[in-house]
Amino acid sequence: MSWLTEFVRPKIQGFLKKEVPDNVWKNCDSCGQMLLIKDLEKNLNICPHCNHHMRASVTQRFDWTFDPNSYTRLDLPKAPVDPLQFKDKKKYADRLKENKTKSQLDESIVVAHGTIEGQKAVVAVMAFEFMAGTMGAAFGEGFIAAARLALAQQTPLIVYTASGGARMQEGMLSLMQMPRTVIAVEMLKEAGIPYIVVFTDPTTGGVTASFAMLGDIHIAEPNALIGFAGPRVIENTVHEKLPEGFQRSEYLLEHGMVDIVASRKELRPTLAKILRLLSNTAQPSEKVA
Ligand SMILES: [Zn+2]
Repeated sequence: MSWLTEFVRPKIQGFLKKEVPDNVWKNCDSCGQMLLIKDLEKNLNICPHCNHHMRASVTQRFDWTFDPNSYTRLDLPKAPVDPLQFKDKKKYADRLKENKTKSQLDESIVVAHGTIEGQKAVVAVMAFEFMAGTMGAAFGEGFIAAARLALAQQTPLIVYTASGGARMQEGMLSLMQMPRTVIAVEMLKEAGIPYIVVFTDPTTGGVTASFAMLGDIHIAEPNALIGFAGPRVIENTVHEKLPEGFQRSEYLLEHGMVDIVASRKELRPTLAKILRLLSNTAQPSEKVA
């Protein structure tokens, strides 16, 4: 202990704390630049230095997608909680409780309906902030509810994906959500209701292997990781170096899995244009484009 550690350091720390509270600055996950959170939020969580699209919360997604004050959240049906009484390092039931408190959400999917530049739409957002957006039985129920609402309202369904895949704590029940969500998409297709997927970083595992790849139109945010298994797993399996940008939005656009790579700032007008085209209310200039 010295005068420096006892007296000077606390003083400096106290001063810094007063000037720069933890929630004021954030480092860009990609280029490391220090960014003012207030400015970052105004810029839709896009780094102004390197254009990196950082993660977004469910509320931000809704606010950026719908017209101001135009959306209503849907109460989603409940599913059996922890049917396998699963436990790894922690009890699954405790994990769920923690995630609910931390994210202020009930599950990894949130659904709302409203308007996008005046066009009606149902929007389902996968919440990465809730157990990495994993898909369990409650997610399946939520997805089906979103599809049913789109069907009842005869309005397009837009899904924002962000997921680590199936939720392993629910074992086979989580895998069962793959065919369930596929059937929900099929229900929309049979009724001629547009189904649009917006891929955000990261979209992986059972989500990519089911409803996420079945969109009529696939939009992706720049440089989002989209794939089934991670690149390292594939590299170790095939013993080959993967091409640059493998499993990223731009690579998938080149290879036909994605139709549009759109910056977050262009998303609302892009979605609105697609909705107008699909509902046949597009302006003549849009039809030519
Ligand atoms: Zn950056």
